[in-house]
Amino acid sequence: MSPTPAAPARDRLRIAIQKKGRLADPARALLTACGLSWRESRDKLFCFGESLPVDLLLVRDDDIPGLIADGVCDLGIVGFNELDEQAKARRQIGLPDAYRPLRELGFGECRLMLGIPEEWEWTGVEMLQGKRIATSYPAILTAWLAERGIAADVVELSGSVEIAPRLGTADLIADLVSSGATLRANQLKPVEVLMESTAVLAGPVRELNDSRANLMAMLLRRLDGINATREQKLLMFNAAEDRLPAITALLPASADVVRLPGGADSLRLQAMCGTGLSWQQLEEIERAGASGLMVLAVEKSLA
Ligand code: ATP
Ligand code: ZN
Repeated sequence: MSPTPAAPARDRLRIAIQKKGRLADPARALLTACGLSWRESRDKLFCFGESLPVDLLLVRDDDIPGLIADGVCDLGIVGFNELDEQAKARRQIGLPDAYRPLRELGFGECRLMLGIPEEWEWTGVEMLQGKRIATSYPAILTAWLAERGIAADVVELSGSVEIAPRLGTADLIADLVSSGATLRANQLKPVEVLMESTAVLAGPVRELNDSRANLMAMLLRRLDGINATREQKLLMFNAAEDRLPAITALLPASADVVRLPGGADSLRLQAMCGTGLSWQQLEEIERAGASGLMVLAVEKSLA
């Protein structure tokens, strides 16, 4: 962690992503969906952008916030949990904010939770008073405890947090949970959520003021297009005019019904739906008088 030096002017954008791990593949897939491609370098730490001047740096996720703070990278894809931990750690030692989340990316969902031994009965946060809590997220946990006026020992561990209670190095833990299976395997149970997290695109607090700013704006616009269309479906169907009110009532509230030219006995219609449609919904729409139903995924859109 270092203060933010003025970043040198560059004309290529540099994005840090995880080299190996849970966020590595989805991050790369998302950037590919944004139209980026790279020439792989032999050491695979740096990938030179081919379709656009946007290069990739493949690193450990823990290093991503620091690389943005130091201006080595312009953007990074990292769990909000990691970004917020390092942001809080900076604040706790009086350093200014250096990075911020720009967009949520819809993958890497997890929760930072308190896990207590199965045999304990959870009666509320007051029972944490004086306890030893093992975690890899000491800054988030410290801030969370302080907000609740709880004095507990924060035991910082870099890995295998969930075995700390069995080893006797802590009484309970605060760790990332997605299914809860790891907690159960270690005779722990989740009791309290400290933070909900997803992967985010993070960028510097400071605005870029060279050609990278345009590249960044373009990338954000494409990401917004992907986010907006992730759930969108286009429903096409035929129906008689008098069946339309009954059919419209079965469509998602956000649906926007448009009449298409053509169609002799019945109307040809399409509806843009902000959410997916289940088989059951489609069957109900058909029973209400629609025919020739077809659901199409929306691949790209520019708002
Ligand atoms: P690295 O070698 O890059 O430091 P790591 O072991 O810290 O890897 P991963 O286990 O791949 O990282 O987790 C990366 C991120 O994935 C986490 O910071 C978190 O945002 C997210 N994540 C989603 N589900 C989970 C989970 N069940 N456990 C841990 N992390 C999860
Ligand atoms: Zn890590």
